Amino acid sequence: MDESTLAAGASGTVGFLIALVAGAAEAPKAVPLVETWPVGVFVTLLGLCVGSFLNVVIHRLPAGKSIVWPPSHCPLCLALIAWYDNLPVISYFVLRGRCRRCGSRFSVGYMLVEAATGLAFLGYWLAYFRLGLRDGADHLAVYAVHMVLAAALVASGVIDYERKEIYTSVTNLALAVGLVGSFLWPDVQRVGAFDHRLPDWTGWARADAVLLALVGAAVGAGVIYVTRFLGSLAFRKEAMGMGDVYLMAAVGGCLGWEAAVLIFFMAPFLGLVYGLWHLVRKRDSEVPYGPFLGLAAGIVMLVQDPLIAYFRPGIQAIFFQ
Ligand SMILES: [Zn+2]
Repeated sequence: MDESTLAAGASGTVGFLIALVAGAAEAPKAVPLVETWPVGVFVTLLGLCVGSFLNVVIHRLPAGKSIVWPPSHCPLCLALIAWYDNLPVISYFVLRGRCRRCGSRFSVGYMLVEAATGLAFLGYWLAYFRLGLRDGADHLAVYAVHMVLAAALVASGVIDYERKEIYTSVTNLALAVGLVGSFLWPDVQRVGAFDHRLPDWTGWARADAVLLALVGAAVGAGVIYVTRFLGSLAFRKEAMGMGDVYLMAAVGGCLGWEAAVLIFFMAPFLGLVYGLWHLVRKRDSEVPYGPFLGLAAGIVMLVQDPLIAYFRPGIQAIFFQ
């Protein structure tokens, strides 16, 4: 190899590197901050912490205890749990699910609630901001309202599963966030609305969004209430609790009436599998419905657009002639 080829190679390499740097400097188009991975990591950590708080709600609310005081402690020896032993998911594995002081076992449920909430926050961030599964859902307000609802559904689902009770203080909080969120950011309702358009009822988008949220809450509560009424007539016993009515009011208020209807029809299929298994194993036909309404809501939050597209001709024929 002589000097000229060496010089040519070197200049070629330098040229390539310059082009690379220049290209890199030009290449990144303005990616919205919310779509960047640090935000993805942040919402995952936020979800883990929210899950940790949901555990407090899940265990203290039915016991009639304050959810802010006292701080986390071992239910057996009452020792306060230090912050480094209270890290979501991680501490469960570090301590192998036991109290550091007395060694009593903590239920794996704590860790599962934290992990599920963290994964939900990450999953919907991916779906809304990175994959664009829902038209118009790449909006922080939409994501925030949906995650409040998701958190309420996790807490309600677990409490209903364990105690067959739903707390309206939890569901009504989510409904309130849906109504206030719709007023502040009408996009919250636009995402769930048919064709992603708000109706023009009052000429003021904020008022229209709140009215649409109320329609969603009424439809969500209404479908369960009517089913409950008919079920009571048919089986001479309570078919669904009033808690499910409130739960679906929150779902309809946050996600819109179309989502509420889709969830109403999807939940029985999810519940049926568990119900049959439960009937065979425990000889108990009473199945909590809240977890399946919540599960169906979680699925519809991801696939509402394709589902609506699929049912669109039928919906238009019925409602928009
Ligand atoms: Zn202990």
